[in-house]
Amino acid sequence: MTRMDRATSIHFRLYCLLAGAAASAALAAALIALPSVPDTGTEALLFTLLAIPSAALAYVVRPSITLPLDLSYLLAASLLFPMPVVVIVAFLAGCAASVLSRRERRPGGLLAAAGLNAATLTAMAVAAWLTVEALWDPTAQAGLLAPAALALAGFMALVLAHILMMLLASLMRGEALLQQVRRYVGSVLAFDLLSVPISLLLALNLRDGAGIGFVILAGLALLGAFLLLRLDRARSDLSSAHGKLERRIEELRSLNVIGLELTSGLSPRQILETVARECVKIFPYDCCVAAVFDPESLELQFQIVRDASGTAQQIPQVSSTEFAGWVLGGFGPLLIRDLRKQTVPGPLRAIVRSPRVRAFMASPLRVEGMIVGLLCMQSNREDPYDEHALSVLTALALQAGMAIENARNYQRATRDELTGLYQREYFFQRLQDELLRSSRYRSPFAILMLDLDGFKMINDVYGHLAGDRYLRALGETIRANLRAADIPGRFGGEEFCLLLPETDLPGAQVIAERIRAAVAALQIREGRETLKTTISIGIAVHPQHFSGTASSLVGAADEALYAAKKSGRNRIIAAAA
Ligand code: GH3
Ligand code: MG
Ligand code: MG
Repeated sequence: MTRMDRATSIHFRLYCLLAGAAASAALAAALIALPSVPDTGTEALLFTLLAIPSAALAYVVRPSITLPLDLSYLLAASLLFPMPVVVIVAFLAGCAASVLSRRERRPGGLLAAAGLNAATLTAMAVAAWLTVEALWDPTAQAGLLAPAALALAGFMALVLAHILMMLLASLMRGEALLQQVRRYVGSVLAFDLLSVPISLLLALNLRDGAGIGFVILAGLALLGAFLLLRLDRARSDLSSAHGKLERRIEELRSLNVIGLELTSGLSPRQILETVARECVKIFPYDCCVAAVFDPESLELQFQIVRDASGTAQQIPQVSSTEFAGWVLGGFGPLLIRDLRKQTVPGPLRAIVRSPRVRAFMASPLRVEGMIVGLLCMQSNREDPYDEHALSVLTALALQAGMAIENARNYQRATRDELTGLYQREYFFQRLQDELLRSSRYRSPFAILMLDLDGFKMINDVYGHLAGDRYLRALGETIRANLRAADIPGRFGGEEFCLLLPETDLPGAQVIAERIRAAVAALQIREGRETLKTTISIGIAVHPQHFSGTASSLVGAADEALYAAKKSGRNRIIAAAA
């Protein structure tokens, strides 16, 4: 029922109240001004009785658009009866419609429906009265012209009142007016027009004394409307069940995708990217925030903020203390359906993206039982999230937490903490894999052995801690000069071994030279002093220099390194072929 659908906002109800009051005043004025006319009680009662159920039944225009049948009765009543009866019928039908629609949990209240009907009917009755004055010829009551003209005039007044009310309500809600008018003219008007022939038939039947015909026609119209309504409800139930099912499938798929990430060894950042990507697929949103921080250093490690167009947004400046606030607050899954009625708890307030956000849900990410981040969806629409959505978000957050925990454990087990390069055991594993792959595909690969020159002196002069700082920077320098597929390992102390897949001797020499030059240029400030040294590099290429075991290949690179040291350091020497 479109009139009822529009009666959702408080503004609209307020408007209806005012319209109802204005209509009642206009009615009182008309009653005082008009000469009294005899009442026809029985027919009026019949109309009211039929108009009441027809207010709850409707024409089905499209799924989501239905029109009430009571308009027909009211139009017919306005053609047949003196004015007070018309308005009483309208008012009773409006009240009854409101009660019925309330029971069916459709929007719209008693006042709204009564005000709306009273206003529409007053407009219609006044227009009908004016037309009676102009057209009605008491001597030629058998003619069709006058009732038809009346029906049309009444209808025009009704449509006008309808459109005005709709526009006013839209204006109050800040909606696009043009769109509303188009919707009305495009979908509703044609069906509103159906009221005219139906009301004419009803009126003619009753006027000609064919009471049985009237009851049959009215009964059929009601039955037809009832069946159509049932059909429409069944269709909309089915389509909403279908929509729900599709959403569930999408949710399960997302959970499954993230489950797979658990075992695929992605970095924590990539895991967060994946979770954010899945979240924006299954939840309506205007902003999605995913963040992880390190509870020990209280540092924000990374954060993803994405708006509805999917583009990454400027990261809001959330301070470490605010993050610490979330953790200490021990926040659990949080659902706020309407931010105007409920505020976001203090520590989380910093991530509400804009004042337009209306709904908010967030779930913590836990790693090793500790909150280390959060997943949060925000929407500018009213009430897009429910308990089910929150439980899906929480499941995603749980999966993401587990995947991040896994990734961190894996990193810890394979990486050297100081330099961030791979540990020796992991390096040898990868070297074995590469040896097998290279033998099968006959592709070369290179091993580089590196040792800092005179590093002992740096330790002796500046202390071990300064030496450590240098080694940390060296790790970054080495990684920065390698390709993504290369495997850098720390062999111990200040010795490193690099595995370069798909690389022959000239290629290895280019990379070695790049690293040598970068290390020679590396400077670390230590108080007023500057730490700097150079590096010597030995190269061995498989199968050119050695085609035996992994350790013999490393041995060949080590020999070349020794030769580089002996021949003056800060240089690169390849193993003898
Ligand atoms: P060379 O040019 O012959 O390589 O001279 P060098 O002084 O670098 O000699 P060597 O490679 O034998 O030096 C190893 C030194 O590296 C010994 C130790 O002081 C230092 N070292 C090894 N591991 C670490 C570490 O983890 N931290 C720090 N600060 N120093 C380390
Ligand atoms: Mg050394
Ligand atoms: Mg050494």
